[in-house]
Amino acid sequence: MILQSEPTKTTCPYCGVGCGVIAEVEANGEVSIKGDPGHPANFGRLCSKGSALGDTLDLNGRLLHPEINNQRASWDEALDLVALKFSDAIRDHGPDSVAFYVSGQMLTEDYYVANKLMKGFIGSANIDTNSRLCMASSVAGHKRAFGADTVPGTYEDLEMADLVVLVGSNLAWCHPVLYQRLMAAKEQRPEMRVVLIDPRRTMTADLADLHLAIENDGDVALFMGLLTHLKQSGSFDQAYIDAHVNGMDDALNASFWFDVAEVARRTGVARNDIETFYSWFATTEKTVTVYSQGVNQSQSSTDKVNAIINCHLATGRIGKPGMGPFSVTGQPNAMGGREVGGLANMLAAHMEIENAAHRNIVQDFWQSPALPQKPGLKAVDLFQAVGDGRIKALWIMSTNPVVSMPDAGAVEDAIKACPFVVVSDVMAETDTIRHAHVKLPATAWGEKNGTVTNSERRISCQRAFMQAPGEAKPDWWQMAEVGKRMGFGQAFDWASPAQIFAEHAALSGVENNGSRDFDISAYAGISDAEYENLQPFQWPQSYGEKPKETRFFGNGDFFTPDKRGRAIAINAPEPKSNHGLFTLNTGRVRDHWHTMTRTGKSARLSAHMAEPYCELHPDDAAAFGVIDAGLVILSNELGNVVLRALISPRQRKGAVFAPMHWSDQNAANARIDRLVGPVVDPISGQPALKAGLVSVEPYQPQSYGFAVSAKEPIVGTFPYFSKAIASDGWRSEFAFATMPDDLETSLRKMFGVGTHAELIAYHDNALAQQRFAFFEGEKLIAAAFLSRDPVTVSRSVAAADLARDFTNRQSRFGVIATRPSFDQPDPGAQICACFGVGANQITAAVKSGCLSVEAVGKATSAGTNCGSCKGEIRSLIAGLYESEIQNVQGILEQQDII
Ligand code: SF4
Repeated sequence: MILQSEPTKTTCPYCGVGCGVIAEVEANGEVSIKGDPGHPANFGRLCSKGSALGDTLDLNGRLLHPEINNQRASWDEALDLVALKFSDAIRDHGPDSVAFYVSGQMLTEDYYVANKLMKGFIGSANIDTNSRLCMASSVAGHKRAFGADTVPGTYEDLEMADLVVLVGSNLAWCHPVLYQRLMAAKEQRPEMRVVLIDPRRTMTADLADLHLAIENDGDVALFMGLLTHLKQSGSFDQAYIDAHVNGMDDALNASFWFDVAEVARRTGVARNDIETFYSWFATTEKTVTVYSQGVNQSQSSTDKVNAIINCHLATGRIGKPGMGPFSVTGQPNAMGGREVGGLANMLAAHMEIENAAHRNIVQDFWQSPALPQKPGLKAVDLFQAVGDGRIKALWIMSTNPVVSMPDAGAVEDAIKACPFVVVSDVMAETDTIRHAHVKLPATAWGEKNGTVTNSERRISCQRAFMQAPGEAKPDWWQMAEVGKRMGFGQAFDWASPAQIFAEHAALSGVENNGSRDFDISAYAGISDAEYENLQPFQWPQSYGEKPKETRFFGNGDFFTPDKRGRAIAINAPEPKSNHGLFTLNTGRVRDHWHTMTRTGKSARLSAHMAEPYCELHPDDAAAFGVIDAGLVILSNELGNVVLRALISPRQRKGAVFAPMHWSDQNAANARIDRLVGPVVDPISGQPALKAGLVSVEPYQPQSYGFAVSAKEPIVGTFPYFSKAIASDGWRSEFAFATMPDDLETSLRKMFGVGTHAELIAYHDNALAQQRFAFFEGEKLIAAAFLSRDPVTVSRSVAAADLARDFTNRQSRFGVIATRPSFDQPDPGAQICACFGVGANQITAAVKSGCLSVEAVGKATSAGTNCGSCKGEIRSLIAGLYESEIQNVQGILEQQDII
């Protein structure tokens, strides 16, 4: 339902770039989405995910009413029960017997209330967040080096730099608009250099002048070697170090034996490439080092962060235009969570839980009965405590840990065994909410108001433009109501998120006077009307200050007691043997987000990568007998998954990559984090989500299958199955271990085909191929293609058939003949999500003489809207694999492009 018919300025809910969005509800009820030209994060740009936000706003699958034990309940019943169960657990077992597991998807106001309730009034620090999985090591590294969790720079620094070093960051897919800003800057100043440090040759590599394909975790040694090189080449800024940095001698001593030969041994990178990188870094004053999950999701991640920061402190390149270390966050509000103390080891407003003075400030301000004096359980420990019975009541908000946590199978078992589990979510069915005793319907993006903070410390509003459906309520309201029912009434008596924001802002200024980095006390007295019109701004903004663009540490003052930065002496981990197993690297794809509860609703986003896959190097595929479009089993002691093989020279030998997005809701057996052990960085507690170990073996089903259907398919017990929404129905990939006795009946059940539907079938026993097409009237309602070998039907053509009218028998035979449609050639695998342009169309344009991304754009429109696919277009133009593109279909169409 429309709340606001005027265009509404809001903020994208996906990644940490934090792009401004203008949403407008059209007369027909559809929502148009545009980039906000006035927003300083994106200046009007959006990536494919942001552009498709309008596709994700329907109510299909939404949780619209509270439920207790899967029965509809009133809000009063549900909230009373939550308050009672938490109070009972605290009375009987103490405050540490309860826990919240929250999310970087939450708004700052929600996060503030969660933290206040748990730390301020329940009296436990057992609140942690899925941001622990994303950037906890950057927090820890910042605090070690700067004395506070401060991101020093701004996005503009990437554009101003002469050298941008991207470490463990697939910026092109994971922070696409920032990548576009960098790409545009490099186009304007081709002399700007970009170095990519990543085991994989990701799409980001196409922008890089130098790609260092390091061994997993080789980046600690790489940056220790860089520190040594900077010293030996006379590149230290000794005056800056003398005036502003402690510990540099110790850091250097720890690194001194890391010469180029040692670094080459530990990283697997050629010596001359290491020397080139070191020389560029040493001689380029304006250098920015950007890092994200490839750095943070490691057992040595805090050391990696400090190894990078050491090099910037040694050269004095921090907090100045075009210079500095730069952590980019994965989630839209990881930074906001940090600001309110959403991590178990932090207190509100960037204060320290173990600092008595800070505890006093917060306790006085909140007028709370007690604050915990020690950190609570971090995510991995928290779910282990749930599993061993220490946690009696657990509230999970806006996140899906049964899919996203490491050792996800054990996490699911723990949640199932927990005496009382509450889940607040927008979706009625997720892998986590299915185990909840109480389900609380939350408002979604477009229905709620609040703020988020992006990776450059910029606070922007998410604003509602639609009515909350059913009985959905904001997270802050849910927690405030529980707080009141637990007897903490006055402290949780807000009427609006504006009042929460004002309180949060006021706390940030208490006894601050520049002693703490986070200060937004300028907004302590903000009214509802001012909050409604709040413009994006960067912190700090202390009381009485005018908004300004900011960097930290340019003056050499840090937040340590002596105001000096700290270089950290690091012990580089010895390279580990994989014992013949493959390193499992997990991560994101371009067009999906987390566990797909939102992006999985968009046909255009789902078309880019429509099934779960495992990317592996051609030599490894050959050695293990994995075939193009075949299936692979990844396994270890924690379990196994079955994925589609995507064979690509972009993948490093000895390692495989698998996306984190697929869950039991859309695939039979693809929850990849089941195979990642609960191994964490000892300082930050962040899990090593890119360092699992698995064996790889091919899986040969009796038959592969692909289908399109008008109805949503039923996921049965298959060795392999995945479904994805298409424009006019669904597309499914599956495999039969053994053929059903009655195949036709099985297919009818899978795809909801009634007995009255007309069937056209084709069987080729020699080729072991079978094809079925079911029609009702002039419409195709399902078509299934089965083969002993991977099915090579064009997925896009078959999906498009669901929208066509089949007026005669000849046209119906065309479906099972798998000929491209009568009037349209096969577009091939989708490359451009905005305009639905496929690889075959782009290849045709290239063959006709379009030899630049711009020329392809003019000919096909591909890449001319959000630009997220420009890397893939560039790869196609390069023609590296052009001939093979014609030969494979489905997700395997992508293998030569990504
Ligand atoms: Fe959203 Fe894309 Fe911007 Fe990230 S880069 S905030 S996903 S539009």
